[in-house]
Amino acid sequence: MANTLVIVGAGFSGTVLAANLLRRPPPVATDIVLVERGPAVGRGVAYAARELPYLLNVPAARLSADARDPLHFLHFAQRRVPDASGEDFLPRALYGDYLQDLLSQAERMAPAHIRLVCVFDEVRGITPRSGGKPLAAEFRERPPILADFVILALGNPPAPLLPWAFPIRDHKSYRHDPWELPQTLPPGGSVLIVGNGLTMVDVAVTLTRDAARAPLLHTISRHGLVPLPQTEFRPSALSGDGEAILACADSLRRVLAMTRHLSRETAHRGGDWREVVTFIRHLAPTLWRRLPVLEQRRFVRHLQAHWDIHRHRLPPQLAERIASLRRTGKLQVHGGRIDSIGAAGEQLRVSWRPRGRAEPRVLTVDLVVNSTGPNYALGRSIDPLLNSLREAGLVSEDALSLGLRTDRYGACVDSQGQASPDLYYLGPMLRADHWEATAAAELRGHAERLAVHLVERLAAARRD
Ligand SMILES: Cc1cc2nc3c(=O)[nH]c(=O)nc-3n(C[C@H](O)[C@H](O)[C@H](O)COP(=O)(O)OP(=O)(O)OC[C@H]3O[C@@H](n4cnc5c(N)ncnc54)[C@H](O)[C@@H]3O)c2cc1C
Repeated sequence: MANTLVIVGAGFSGTVLAANLLRRPPPVATDIVLVERGPAVGRGVAYAARELPYLLNVPAARLSADARDPLHFLHFAQRRVPDASGEDFLPRALYGDYLQDLLSQAERMAPAHIRLVCVFDEVRGITPRSGGKPLAAEFRERPPILADFVILALGNPPAPLLPWAFPIRDHKSYRHDPWELPQTLPPGGSVLIVGNGLTMVDVAVTLTRDAARAPLLHTISRHGLVPLPQTEFRPSALSGDGEAILACADSLRRVLAMTRHLSRETAHRGGDWREVVTFIRHLAPTLWRRLPVLEQRRFVRHLQAHWDIHRHRLPPQLAERIASLRRTGKLQVHGGRIDSIGAAGEQLRVSWRPRGRAEPRVLTVDLVVNSTGPNYALGRSIDPLLNSLREAGLVSEDALSLGLRTDRYGACVDSQGQASPDLYYLGPMLRADHWEATAAAELRGHAERLAVHLVERLAAARRD
């Protein structure tokens, strides 16, 4: 009987894992079952084909999904866009095409004893079984698929319904999903976008694509910080094992002082401070694990918003677009907290408190868009599969509610603290253990290491 690996989710992580398994095939007959609840593999939220050409926030030369060939994506892109260069920020939908191509190439080259089976459905639960295959992936209507290994590649968990959103969740002027924007707004209308990260930028660009009919945009986040632009810099300008920074990992204050020192030194040598951010990003998993939990907590509370805007940067053309909207007063960025939002007829009335001020302000808008980003706290999840796994004790969250507790290669740690032998997680919720686990560059590494590990496990099982 063939071994069965079920990968739940065919966004970047699931697709790249499947391609890796097909490229370095296990020595035994194996079915790789890739399950996707959306309409296509290789896309997820990030690389979906959409009406507007949303841009990647990383230059093409740094987005290969295959570590053996760093320019793999660039060469694919140049077959479609001959004058594309390695420094270009290309459309995200093109990257989705690339991932689909990567998977079909790997499938075509795979030996006959390895089969890729794509199933378009939603997994509702994973149940342990005794005898035969240890796990079953459960669906609403289709019969379960029995598996030797299940890999959860579910992507970013959906945004939570925050307290201010409860009273308006069914109001027609509230959008919980930032990708479902209305086609039209009243002339001279106004919009509040809650959240100031990269999704806010996508929403702002969409709503202002027709300058003549663009609404007045307000955005709000706790700190009022907006992502910074990418610039040309040498991503590998700093090298070494980073011991100087890692040696400071007992104290966040010392890490910060060392970061400032390195930035000054880099600037002194004619470099760019972003080189230091990139360097620290590579050290992030080790640094994160060495920081005491108390210091990790302080980072999340005081520094995370600052790290995010320095680390997740905007393509220059988008940064200029946002800067221009701000200069002309069409985009007003606020730092503060929402107290409440209530219906005011067709409109929504927002009561909010600017950062550091006690007196509330009121804003009446035609649309409120939630761009607060994913909810990594398992206890507040609205994802049916994650909830069922948590209730069954098969997965657990870390002390800071940053994601899932995992062991080596992403093995899920259960509610008793035991690492599962057959249930794995791959994706952004690895941040609990690695801190930086959102971008394609990090996830590619995790996918490759997990593929090697799974192939070794299958080979070892055959020998036993
Ligand atoms: C809008 C956006 C833009 C981004 N842009 C960039 C960028 O330019 N560069 C970069 O490096 N990173 C970018 N990222 C980061 C991004 O997180 C990663 O690049 C990557 O897409 C994450 O892949 P994933 O497979 O883990 O998650 P996803 O791509 O979200 O895929 C998860 C998949 O699992 C499916 N799924 C979930 N639950 C189930 C279930 N129960 N049953 C079946 N299927 C299920 C979903 O439908 C989805 O297709 C972006 C992220 C977003 C949200």
